[in-house]
Amino acid sequence: MKKIPYSRQSIDASDLAAVEAALKSDFLTQGPLIEEFEREFARIHGVPHAVAVCNATAALHIAYQALGIGAGKLVWTSPNTFVATSNAALYLDATVDFVDIDPRTYNLSVDALKAKLTATRQAGGRLPDLVVPVHFGGQSCDMQGLARLAAEFGFRVVEDASHAVGAVTQGEPVGSCAHSDAAIFSFHPVKIITTGEGGLITTRNAELAAHLRRLRAHGITRDAALMTEPSHGTWYYQQLELGWNFRLTELQSALGLSQLKRLSAFRERREAKARRYDELLKDLPLKLHGLRAGENSARHLYVVRVDRARVKKDKRKIFEELHQRGVLVNLHYMPVYLQPYYASLGFKPGLCPEAEAYYAEAITLPLFVDMTDADQDQVVAALRDVLV
Ligand SMILES: *Cc1c(COP(=O)(O)O)cnc(C)c1O
Repeated sequence: MKKIPYSRQSIDASDLAAVEAALKSDFLTQGPLIEEFEREFARIHGVPHAVAVCNATAALHIAYQALGIGAGKLVWTSPNTFVATSNAALYLDATVDFVDIDPRTYNLSVDALKAKLTATRQAGGRLPDLVVPVHFGGQSCDMQGLARLAAEFGFRVVEDASHAVGAVTQGEPVGSCAHSDAAIFSFHPVKIITTGEGGLITTRNAELAAHLRRLRAHGITRDAALMTEPSHGTWYYQQLELGWNFRLTELQSALGLSQLKRLSAFRERREAKARRYDELLKDLPLKLHGLRAGENSARHLYVVRVDRARVKKDKRKIFEELHQRGVLVNLHYMPVYLQPYYASLGFKPGLCPEAEAYYAEAITLPLFVDMTDADQDQVVAALRDVLV
């Protein structure tokens, strides 16, 4: 029986040729391709600045750092995300908290955020310095609603757009940062495009972009205007602050550029497969992912919720029986604060009831660019077998 993963990369001859050419070039890192990749990504996403780094976790880390997150600062995010979104704040010794999700879109709920902000203010509590919406499954959060609250309550916004390369929200590309300080993307092989490992930050703020470039490379500058004394000579550079080695290589940038050329074809294929699922799953005891009007999701994840009124079978058993049928379903995500490490920080079950109810019902079905109709039919037949 064919095993169908929940996601996988699509690598073709053009990708192979691009990486081979990079390998034969003069530079394997710190060459011209990283800048070309950044320029092309920025152009496609309608934003002036893009800073590529070694993975999205590093992107979150330096984006938070450059926005002043550190000890004594507070970051709020969605519990329905990969642990990296909140871990990056903990690296910087900041405090994190979680805001419940919308039960239809599985994104951070702007209503829940407003209620939590208002209650915190009334109680004289600490308001967040930064809020990080996660565009779950490739569909943008309500960024206009979030931006109104950011203006009212005075917090910064970084979008975790790891799932949303190429997505469009209310007519604007996700990552254009019309309503945020910065957006971050992931190029892990399960995501929309891949560089093996890789990440990137977009912003409209030139100063922030320059700061991110410094933080990516040890906090070092070669810009004489920023130096504390005149240059000692052609070799001279200064380290102005503590940064990291978070660079993307030329090989990865070559792959990223080549994958960007295939992005619109990827999007069409994902959209067609998602719609085909919508059609094929209509009569099964499942709740489908709600899409808001005006959202063009990148369709990174196809998540269904088991209709608990109609299916009594245990979640663990459903997953096991689907795996036995070659359908390698996954689950995105257990609420982050239920992880043992977060429990050790004092988080308790019950914090975000909608995210917990979602976790009890959600299944991520296989969806990837090179998935065939036969693969998809195998998934649907297995679901019918197991659930009905
Ligand atoms: C994948 C992912 C990350 C981390 O990405 P890496 O590139 O693997 O570091 C962060 N946030 C979300 C929502 C993700 O899905």
